[in-house]
Amino acid sequence: MTTFYKWGSGTNPDAPRVDHAHDEFLITTDGERIIDAASGALVVNLGHSVPGVSELMADQSEAVAYVSTSYFRNDPAERLADRLTELTPDPLSAAFFVGSGSEANETAIKLARAYHLAQGNQRKQTVICRHGSYHGATLGALSLSGKPTRTAPFVPLLKRGPRIPAAYPYRWTYEGTPEEQAIAAARELDAAITREGPETVAAFIAEPVSGSTLGAAHPHPTYYREIRRICDRHDVCFIADEVMTGFGRTGEFFAVDHADVAPDILTVGKGISGGYAPIAAAIVTERIAETFEADSEHAFAHGHTFSANPLSTAVADHVVAQYDEDVLADVRDRGATLRSALAPLTDHPHVGEIRGLGLMYGIELVADVETQRPFDPDRRVSKRIFETCLAEGVYVYPGSGSVDGRAGDHLLLGPPFITSPESIQEIAETVIGAIESVTDESV
Ligand code: PMP
Repeated sequence: MTTFYKWGSGTNPDAPRVDHAHDEFLITTDGERIIDAASGALVVNLGHSVPGVSELMADQSEAVAYVSTSYFRNDPAERLADRLTELTPDPLSAAFFVGSGSEANETAIKLARAYHLAQGNQRKQTVICRHGSYHGATLGALSLSGKPTRTAPFVPLLKRGPRIPAAYPYRWTYEGTPEEQAIAAARELDAAITREGPETVAAFIAEPVSGSTLGAAHPHPTYYREIRRICDRHDVCFIADEVMTGFGRTGEFFAVDHADVAPDILTVGKGISGGYAPIAAAIVTERIAETFEADSEHAFAHGHTFSANPLSTAVADHVVAQYDEDVLADVRDRGATLRSALAPLTDHPHVGEIRGLGLMYGIELVADVETQRPFDPDRRVSKRIFETCLAEGVYVYPGSGSVDGRAGDHLLLGPPFITSPESIQEIAETVIGAIESVTDESV
């Protein structure tokens, strides 16, 4: 029994044991205070003390915690669906609730394929994705991911669609201005669809800002405008995976808002409940939703036991109601404070790039800034920086991505939106100190 739990919490038996948490702080059973500079896994957007949640959970469980949504309706789920429709870009108008980000992406893939089937396009089944992305741990979502540590052991089990280069400007070799490079990169999708045959391609899936694999790498907004045009031209659904970037994390409600682009399907998770309940969703346009209306000849034969359960949706409804313009303004302000606090790293000989939007920052670490040569993965540079920060009371998200075979050590910083300026300063100072000591030993 416990072995599986140990796996679920990482293999390190010495990992700190969290007893309780408040604001941006985790308190261990030994009484140690750790700043949660990654909001768990960019989940706890509003911090660890969201007012009103515990009372609401008690009231909702008292009223009704669970009903099968295959046969019953419930108000919290419908309220949440309406609230999401208000917050998301315009044509998005219906939500399918599930229990995790992986399930949301599985749902999105099935929705795209079922939508094309309903249009009489039986052959539109392929999903194109990008190198170096992460869409989830379940086999379908994993098959669209480029995270070798997770995919490698299962590759023979997965049917993999074509992949286009990552949206990773730091390692792009396209010529021209950032805008021209973004257009060239987006046109890789056009080429892939053409090669594959547009009549066989159902969808393209991407994280608008790459999270766990590429440390907040993101292209010029023109990229997604061009992606939108290409998808429209070939009748391909654009799935934006905003499981990590949704709900204000990047300084807009959704990262696609930076490009003023609406996807056909938007997947969300993590911040939707701020960590208080396992819930996620695939949100679709009117055009897709009406295909599967109850009175339509087409049904979307899909669902999970915990889909749209009243307890999770009530909690998420309460949390999503907090995301407003003031929260976005806070994210931008505190993000700017974090960015300036990291400024001493700008000319560091092993910091290739500091990038990000809002309160989602990535720091790419390289052996040589001139050639952008990554560190030897055996040196575990980002892992050791993570360990050093943790020993000093700051939890950051370590990453060692891989793009077309090139490894890149990086850190991801994504503190809760309520993190105080003093804690932001402490995060930056600890990270700078750890980068200096670990990279000094690693050259
Ligand atoms: N998509 C993205 C962009 C993610 O960051 C994650 C989780 N890290 C997932 C999907 C999968 O979500 P979950 O772990 O909730 O299944």
